[in-house]
Amino acid sequence: KRQEVAAAVHGINPALVDERARNVVTTLQEAGFEAYIVGGAVRDLLLGLRPKDFDVATNATPEQVKGLFRRAFIIGRRFRIVHVVYGRGREHEVIEVSTFRAYMDSNGAEQVAGNERTSKGELAGMKHAVDASGRVLRDNVWGPQEEDAARRDFTVNAMYYDPASQIVVDYHNGIRDAKKLTLRMIGDPATRYREDPVRIIRAIRFSAKLAALGFKLEPKTAAPLVMSSKLLADVPQSRLFDEMLKLLQTGHAVATIEQLRALGMSTGIYPLLDIVVERADQPFVRAALQDTDRRVGEGKPVAPSFLLACVLWADVRDGWATRMQPRGNERPMAPFPALQDAIDDVFNARIGDVSGRGKLGTDMREIWMMQPRFDKRSGATPYSLVEQARFRAAFDFMRLRADVGEIGEAVAEWWQEFSTADDVRRQDLMDQVR
Ligand code: ATP
Ligand code: MG
Repeated sequence: KRQEVAAAVHGINPALVDERARNVVTTLQEAGFEAYIVGGAVRDLLLGLRPKDFDVATNATPEQVKGLFRRAFIIGRRFRIVHVVYGRGREHEVIEVSTFRAYMDSNGAEQVAGNERTSKGELAGMKHAVDASGRVLRDNVWGPQEEDAARRDFTVNAMYYDPASQIVVDYHNGIRDAKKLTLRMIGDPATRYREDPVRIIRAIRFSAKLAALGFKLEPKTAAPLVMSSKLLADVPQSRLFDEMLKLLQTGHAVATIEQLRALGMSTGIYPLLDIVVERADQPFVRAALQDTDRRVGEGKPVAPSFLLACVLWADVRDGWATRMQPRGNERPMAPFPALQDAIDDVFNARIGDVSGRGKLGTDMREIWMMQPRFDKRSGATPYSLVEQARFRAAFDFMRLRADVGEIGEAVAEWWQEFSTADDVRRQDLMDQVR
């Protein structure tokens, strides 16, 4: 079933291949290993898109890969891979290198009692671990390329491209499906969703991303999606949260929400995603989603904190307003403490555990906490506000509020000008609103 497809047939433009990915492949090949660009990058190349990141697959072990590069780091436990790093700071680029893995279906797989942690010792990197529902817990058994292809999700995601010979290796008719604009799960879809329910979310993500090109989910791949979605309850919340963010940051968030609705999956994937889908037609949330899609399309960075801050803004705003109103014989709260308290409530109700995950929560809080400061266009406030690290995000947020008529257009324009003006002009602007 192995097909080797030549450049004249697949038509990949070699100029779209990242130099560093090419370098990783060449280095591995010169050391005597097999190495290919793999997965989504091959899919995108085949479709004439510039891949946003490059993955490499090889028969070298992670240790062997690490030994060949100056800056390479073995990461992951469930799935050990090597990050080869080029450049520094904002310009740095990571090429992910994974070793060919063996495929084991859920019937052949070792049944492992207890959870991943307790079985750590005897399993370390050597066996597949599968829980009672058939979910693959660890996936570090090296195997031949053919098996590596079979354990991948979609046929269009399971091709290998050798930039040296320009040959595409295709085991599952990925090229045919790409031509037919079909997103097809390899193997029996229901079984594959059981092995790893995150594939359900991936099906939605890719179908939404590729819908713009005319792609359709193959009916057999689509059919078990709804039934299988209850399996997502067993997936760790942190992984679901990450997958939700990927769904919203493909550059096709609006299409993703339409796809979720069309498939009858508007709820039940992740609580916060339920809210996004529910509110997607509200002007402010819609504007935020469109803004995110536009930015991704223009190759600009997007911050998940910004989008989530937009989605939950209605709760914050309402909670804030309520707290500033006189209630019975309680005194109304002052604006800043009221806002802070409303934000705490929203975090408790909507974000839960993931709020502990570093920067995201802090950034959301800052965007919200800066909003009332845009009302004050006198004294030292404007000068200090524009110096804040998160000013740009808070400003963009305020700009969207103006777009939907929540605050005056003149205010947004004033800040736009103030933030870029010199000192003399700034004084002018301050005098104008006195
Ligand atoms: P993107 O363009 O969003 O990066 P991608 O296809 O490259 O899409 P990745 O998450 O980067 O997706 O994964 C790289 C490849 O690894 C996929 O193309 C697929 O072959 C394989 N893969 C990733 N996650 C899974 C999974 N849950 N089940 C099976 N194969 C997977
Ligand atoms: Mg990728």
